[in-house]
Amino acid sequence: MRLNIAILPGDGIGPEVTREAVRVLRTVAEIAGHEFRFEEAPIGGTAVDQFDTPLPPQTLEKCLSSNAVFLGAVGGPRWDNLPRAQKPETGLLQLRQALGGFANIRPAACHPALAECSPLRKDVVEGADVVVVRELLGGLYFGEPRGFRPEFTDAFNTMRYSENEVERIARVGFEAARTRRRKVTSVDKANVLETSQLWREVVNRVSRNYPDVALQHMYVDACAMHLVTNPRQFDVILAENLFGDILSDEAAAITGSLGMLASATVGGDVNLYEPIHGSAPDIAGRDIANPLGAIASAALLLRYSAKLQQEASAVEAAIGRVLDERYRTADLGRASAADSRVQPVGTAEMGSLVAQALGEIMDRRQAYHTV
Ligand code: NAD
Repeated sequence: MRLNIAILPGDGIGPEVTREAVRVLRTVAEIAGHEFRFEEAPIGGTAVDQFDTPLPPQTLEKCLSSNAVFLGAVGGPRWDNLPRAQKPETGLLQLRQALGGFANIRPAACHPALAECSPLRKDVVEGADVVVVRELLGGLYFGEPRGFRPEFTDAFNTMRYSENEVERIARVGFEAARTRRRKVTSVDKANVLETSQLWREVVNRVSRNYPDVALQHMYVDACAMHLVTNPRQFDVILAENLFGDILSDEAAAITGSLGMLASATVGGDVNLYEPIHGSAPDIAGRDIANPLGAIASAALLLRYSAKLQQEASAVEAAIGRVLDERYRTADLGRASAADSRVQPVGTAEMGSLVAQALGEIMDRRQAYHTV
């Protein structure tokens, strides 16, 4: 398999965690005989410093001509007071828009060794493994008309969805469920909103093409409650833009650290993969950032852009193995405090431990298939 991957390390801890994700992708390519070509390009504050713009045209060109884009993180206090057009975050928004992905996929699983890290009770989060599939280009965030009336006496936004928009995101949700435990919970507010009534009708229709996937409908308020009281019941949560935005952040609490969370934005011209955390300027340059969210994003790249399911699951297994062996970056300190056998490691060491575990897992699987 050949793949051209645009690498945008960005700012702060972005380059540190991206380096480890690339290390893991190189390991996959080497062992499984794939040809991954990595081309680095500037984005965010780093690009502003060099080119006076957070998304230089040559960066965008490189992204649009690649098979997948991997991004670290952008932003930092150095660029906070720039005009809006030059802010690092503006570059990221422009990139997302140009790539055109309409589906945001965010897994949130509780690794058994990290159950203590979650703010939720251990017996509640243990075994939870959820993916939120969020519609990204429609709904309240984009609906017209929107605005303020004169004198700021009132303001309004429009929630609007077309049949096509619901249909395409529903398909992403059902396809994702097929690679997992085959259950979709579609979230809406159909007791109040017409957009939700349309959503429910279209999701029901799409589900007929996926008889092997169980479908459940849930009101968004109930879903918010169930996510923190019984998250194990969920497999894929399918939601429109605003509901998905809120629920995916809430689901993040299951994992215990922002540094663990991965994301993929798919459905446009080129898919975008990024850890969900920001550039963490408070810890940048100290080799203490957790690279596992970035590495897990690389696993999503293997799954969704390269269609290499086995390699993707091998990367996820390698992350699990390293956590089982009690290696921890500083952000996972709550679990470390409770366990004297914990081995504290930095960013680069964590990346190389995952690469090493991955090598062993892939070699063993290959040997098994050869036999
Ligand atoms: P942040 O995610 O950067 O950091 C929040 C907290 O989590 C900090 O204490 C940080 O040290 C910690 N943290 C984050 N990632 C970590 C990791 N991998 N390992 C260990 N600890 C980690 O959010 P913030 O502080 O609100 O924002 C900082 C900058 O990042 C801002 O400029 C913001 O605009 C930007 N930002 C960028 C993105 C992105 O690029 N997608 C997302 C969010 C924020």
